[in-house]
Amino acid sequence: MPTDASRIRLILGLRRAGITDASVLAAIESVPRERFIPETFRDQAWEDIALPIGLGQTISQPRVVATMTEALKVSKRHRVLEIGTGSGYQAAVLARLCRRLYTIERHPALLERAEGILKELGLTNIVARAGDGMAGWPELAPFDRIIVTAAPKEAPQALLDQLSPDGGIMVIPMGRTADSQHLWRLTRNGEEIAREKLMAVRFVPLLPGVADDTKA
Ligand code: SAH
Repeated sequence: MPTDASRIRLILGLRRAGITDASVLAAIESVPRERFIPETFRDQAWEDIALPIGLGQTISQPRVVATMTEALKVSKRHRVLEIGTGSGYQAAVLARLCRRLYTIERHPALLERAEGILKELGLTNIVARAGDGMAGWPELAPFDRIIVTAAPKEAPQALLDQLSPDGGIMVIPMGRTADSQHLWRLTRNGEEIAREKLMAVRFVPLLPGVADDTKA
């Protein structure tokens, strides 16, 4: 089990790394990251590192989760769409800060595990489904915020279309190769998209279609 000391050390490290939003820090402190991590790595749950969650995927580094969450400028009024549920950890952090969190994962096996943990934690404002997140969730659009936790080369047009034209914000890693990825914040006003480059990152690729986990 993680100690209080490891939690406090992580939060201090995030502050030192420039995360200042108290609600983001409180959300990270309150979500038990160890629950989203396979047992073998659980003793490292509160270290500032990405860890494997199976099927070649990873739970993001806390510093990246904190940066993306802060950059998203989420409020309790917002409906947020996440692409890439993975472990469910980023969804749990966001769900503490927004009204409702919708999340899509292309690996049904990961989604099932994540949904189980989110339910156990009593997070009732999360709606999850298996699917190709590149197409977004058109029936529920527009979204006040969209967060993408796997990297495409360019932001999928379907997601830009589903972002609120009234100051909607998307945070997304993009890059031609794994070595040239950066986190971007895209802000939509009408048909104008303002782009801000935030930091260098390394995400798994955003892949098309739904994975067949019965063959894994
Ligand atoms: N947010 C996650 C990090 C997940 S890693 C967490 O907190 O743990 C990225 C995830 O994106 C992987 O699980 C991968 O399967 C998923 N992914 C990649 N392409 C996708 C797509 N087109 N639609 C939905 N999920 C996708």
